[in-house]
Amino acid sequence: IDKAPVTVIGLGPMGQAMVRSYLAAGHPVTVWNRTASRADDLVAEGARLAASPSEAVAASGLTILSLTDYAAMYAILDGVGDVLSGRVVANISSDSPERTREAGAWLADRGARLLTGGIMVPAPMVGTEQSYVFYSGPKEVMDAQHDTLAVIGRPDYRGADLGLAQLWYQANLDVFLTMLSAFAHASALLGSAGVRSAELVPYATETLNLAGYFLEPSAAAIDSGDHSDQGANVAMMSATTDHIVEASREVGIDLVLPRAIQEHYHRAIERGHGGDSWTSLIEVIRKP
Ligand code: NDP
Repeated sequence: IDKAPVTVIGLGPMGQAMVRSYLAAGHPVTVWNRTASRADDLVAEGARLAASPSEAVAASGLTILSLTDYAAMYAILDGVGDVLSGRVVANISSDSPERTREAGAWLADRGARLLTGGIMVPAPMVGTEQSYVFYSGPKEVMDAQHDTLAVIGRPDYRGADLGLAQLWYQANLDVFLTMLSAFAHASALLGSAGVRSAELVPYATETLNLAGYFLEPSAAAIDSGDHSDQGANVAMMSATTDHIVEASREVGIDLVLPRAIQEHYHRAIERGHGGDSWTSLIEVIRKP
């Protein structure tokens, strides 16, 4: 059976990887990019370059956007005219949940339906088994596009509220980016003693595995609101954050990250959580 035509607008590393996945799966692919030369290799591999955004949107029932942010969507689609009417746009670009909701209303005014997406793997992993994408938007649109969207990664539908895909995406990147900054900071801390970052890797991996093991009981405490001490109370953890700040100060490296974490603990103590589990930090974070 014929595969559905797909349009991809935005040919950064991510958009290019998406196009290659669709070409490999046998879909007719139309592309457009502000900087047209970024389509050269893809055209050689079988994609069709549209002369304008409106021609690109007109070529397929589904247009996938892979752009820096949602502002880029308006820059590209403002002025395409009636061509959006009756089509589906899957915007798999990063932005705030509120901006993605506004985009839904903007597209609805033009007769188009929006799915929002957040892709959870780096470009080289697009289309592989590990690839998955958070989606939100109208369920019937998701169901209709499911198989086509599955080509770039397993769709993980989070609900009708358009903001949900980015909320899930940002929540996971919150964890990921904080972890990467912590790793850079830890490398600088050990680097002050001439230790190479590579030597930290097996230990940091072990620490991350341990953190993973912490998550389930921590989530249970956060969800139930029962922050009784399970052996890692705020007062003890707070002293450790003080020591990380001191160790960092002694060697003259940046203090922003350890100070932020220290502040969570200090505030929790101020609010009387010293003897509670560290999970009581959620109260300070929810209501700063
Ligand atoms: P890039 O920043 O490399 O690509 C951005 C694309 O947006 C380019 O095609 C660029 O066009 C276009 N663009 C930006 N601003 C405008 C504008 N004002 N008008 C028209 N076009 C514009 O990003 P990636 O491909 O790396 O990522 C795309 C999305 O995927 C992002 O939202 C990113 O957060 C997300 N993502 C990326 C991952 C990755 O590993 N790369 C991983 C997970 C998510 P031009 O070529 O002309 O500059």
